[in-house]
Amino acid sequence: MIFRFLLLLSILILPIVGIVVYGRYLLGRWLNSFEQKQPPKQITQKLVKCAYCGTFVPESQAYPTQDGYYCSQEHTKL
Ligand SMILES: [Zn+2]
Repeated sequence: MIFRFLLLLSILILPIVGIVVYGRYLLGRWLNSFEQKQPPKQITQKLVKCAYCGTFVPESQAYPTQDGYYCSQEHTKL
């Protein structure tokens, strides 16, 4: 009787354990793909156009003025 009960219990529990393990595996894969997609967005910088010559330069290297962005200090004076 106890053997039958354990057999029935294992039949019921095994699929649940399988679903939980597979669910965690899928969740881990989903989180990994999410983390791998994030860094490129942070690396790519916003490009700004020089108001004088039209050259695109990263915003961190550009010279911002009231008229807009410039690629070099000389172009801000022109
Ligand atoms: Zn320029």
